[in-house]
Amino acid sequence: MAPPMSAADFLDALKDEGVTVVEVGDWRHHNRNHKGPWGPVHGVMIHHTVTKGSARTVELCRDGYEDLPGPLCHGVITKDGRVHLVGYGRANHAGLGDDDVLRAVIAEKALPHDNEANTDGNRHFYGFECENLGDGHDPWPEPQLAAIERVAAAICRRHGWTERSVIGHLEWQPGKVDPRGFTMASMRERVRDRLK
Ligand SMILES: [Zn+2]
Repeated sequence: MAPPMSAADFLDALKDEGVTVVEVGDWRHHNRNHKGPWGPVHGVMIHHTVTKGSARTVELCRDGYEDLPGPLCHGVITKDGRVHLVGYGRANHAGLGDDDVLRAVIAEKALPHDNEANTDGNRHFYGFECENLGDGHDPWPEPQLAAIERVAAAICRRHGWTERSVIGHLEWQPGKVDPRGFTMASMRERVRDRLK
């Protein structure tokens, strides 16, 4: 159980971990806080965008769609490994997920299979969208994977969490497949090694 970091602390945490950060517009105040609570936070969620082209991807994640207004995450991780901050606060990324998964994240235990959509994830997770087509063929360049590892470790380090607090959208919400192209188990190993 932890209150979210301030935007300034969040930015510092990422930079301290060696992340290349791009600040987009007034990201510190772009959020969905008027629609519901933000925090307490319990973990970090990783997504893929199903988009191509970094500029378009960042813009879309900042603005969202007609039916799903932005921000769609806090940071967009483009293929070059840069992390574009598009929002801070409640963001439309996690949707409804499984309360059993949330309990496992809080307890830092192995995740149960997600089979319910009964819990507001936008309240409880930091979210990162990664530029990838999500077709299982589009490559994940090493700089991009390294950036995922770094942002996740940065947040876990500040909150005193282990790698078990880092999950994929596919582990949260039934029917979701993201991220696709690497396993969250392998990413958690990387985060664990970085946190040592
Ligand atoms: Zn997702």
